[in-house]
Amino acid sequence: MKFVYSDNYDLNLGDHVFPSIKYKLTAEKLLRDGVARPEDFVEPAPASDDDVALVHHREYIRKLKTGTLSYLEILRLEIPYSPELIRAVWVAAGGSILTGQLALRDGVAANVGGGFHHAFPDHGEGFCVLHDVAIAIRRLQKDQTIERAMTVDCDVHQGNGTADIFAADPTVFTFSIHQERNYPYPKPPSDLDINLEDGTGDADYLAALERGLKQALGKFQPDLLFYIAGADPYREDQLGGLSLSLGGLAERDRLVLGEARARGIPVAVTLAGGYARRLEDTVLIHATTLRIAKEGAGGH
Ligand SMILES: [Zn+2]
Repeated sequence: MKFVYSDNYDLNLGDHVFPSIKYKLTAEKLLRDGVARPEDFVEPAPASDDDVALVHHREYIRKLKTGTLSYLEILRLEIPYSPELIRAVWVAAGGSILTGQLALRDGVAANVGGGFHHAFPDHGEGFCVLHDVAIAIRRLQKDQTIERAMTVDCDVHQGNGTADIFAADPTVFTFSIHQERNYPYPKPPSDLDINLEDGTGDADYLAALERGLKQALGKFQPDLLFYIAGADPYREDQLGGLSLSLGGLAERDRLVLGEARARGIPVAVTLAGGYARRLEDTVLIHATTLRIAKEGAGGH
């Protein structure tokens, strides 16, 4: 199984609650733990502007590339603007395109990055500049390598950008399971939303997720499933209010991979959020997701 990664994923945020060094640390941990060999990593090219324009407005793309976002637009991103940020998000979008292509070839593939599910066609917010997953789905549809896709979003925050982008699109089924009383407000409706109470723990979370997966996959058969595997439902997360344990998060990953693979559906994994008090916990959660994804790939 291939892991898509670039050192350019680092968003250059400095001292920020979003630890963008986590991508590099996660890739290094995969090597150290023997989950991946150096040759299992694939370096993505940046998405083309035409690919990005399959989702985002040309005017927004121009502002990003010329550094002409307004003060309010940068405030809404909640991360500082820099040329490195723009390079990072274009490469992450290229990474999710490549991850989708590799998942279709190998059954499972993972982007050691991406999952920027709060980006909208005309603006970014909540640390998300470009919606890499939506760009990948639109590109794969344009190439006619897939017709139908599903997003399974287990980040603690609802996938508002995903819901908005695919709202009127019957070819993409959006499923989000998240903490109800948390950003974003409002939450545009996904095809299936599961709103969880504050403090929901492993057992209730896993039961709700299993019900949701069976419901979604019972009514919609995708050619490819994008798993947005946020680490922030963890009980030690600074921006999340759910109470999953490390073991519960691993069970979550097994459930998503298992339900998809049992139906023969290829899975493309992206990392999304993670703000644990201890950075090593966030890295451990992401690395565990990727190890379980590799087990789901079955020896590739
Ligand atoms: Zn999140």
